Amino acid sequence: MSDLLGATAVVTGASRGIGAAVARSLAEAGVNVGLGSRSGDDLGIEGAVARHCDVRDPHQLKELVDETVEAFGGLDILVVNAGVGAYGPFLDLPSKDLEEMVDVNVKGTMYSIRAALPHLLKSERADIVTVASEAGRRGLPLEAVYCSSKFAQVGFMSALDHELREQGIRCTSVCPGGVATDFAMGHGRTPDMPELTGMMSSEDVAEAVMFTLTRPRNHRILEMAFRPVTETSWG
Ligand code: NAP
Repeated sequence: MSDLLGATAVVTGASRGIGAAVARSLAEAGVNVGLGSRSGDDLGIEGAVARHCDVRDPHQLKELVDETVEAFGGLDILVVNAGVGAYGPFLDLPSKDLEEMVDVNVKGTMYSIRAALPHLLKSERADIVTVASEAGRRGLPLEAVYCSSKFAQVGFMSALDHELREQGIRCTSVCPGGVATDFAMGHGRTPDMPELTGMMSSEDVAEAVMFTLTRPRNHRILEMAFRPVTETSWG
């Protein structure tokens, strides 16, 4: 197992849900954290860099990364977690939701990695982990745009792996099924939907992220998919 003590990580969308759980797990493992979200919450983590950072804006991402590097002297881990979802028949989906999913989930992922990469390239132990989704591995009903944004995220990471592996950077897509967060109750979903029973916790996903990050450096996990037992076996 690889020790993360003293490493430095940036987490996007760190204010709640999965991002907050990942940030807390990293801090508990002795990792210095730079936390970005629109609310700029520091989660009460002592010594954390925390700032307002909307991943739709490359300048705000650069500021988050630069401030983190300045505070801790480098960057080893980027967790691309910020994401949004809206559900329902494709034609009924408001244009603003379509735009937001593409802007945050697709362009936000690319902008986040662009901001962090120059620093990750200087690290001896660099990892990029995206919190993608099971929706990035198969088409799900009433999630056409969300699925396509998550497929884009997984495809981007899979292609980027070719470029970055030789430079020692590991690229991992973590693909959970349903997780009980605010997000899961996003537009078009209600708590009584049968597919939402028995969901996993944010901490379950944080454990998966920590597992990938602590693998020995002689191998990498490209994609990690897992779902609640209550979820159907699609495809
Ligand atoms: P969540 O509880 O709604 O949290 C989303 C986080 O993203 C918040 O911290 C939010 O903070 C931040 N965020 C949203 N828009 C942002 C933006 N434009 N710029 C920066 N930060 C932004 O959702 P979650 O369930 O933890 O989801 C996290 C990731 O997991 C997403 O990428 C999602 O697609 C993925 N995922 C979720 C599930 C699930 O069932 N929940 C399953 C698979 C994958 P602010 O509001 O403060 O900006």
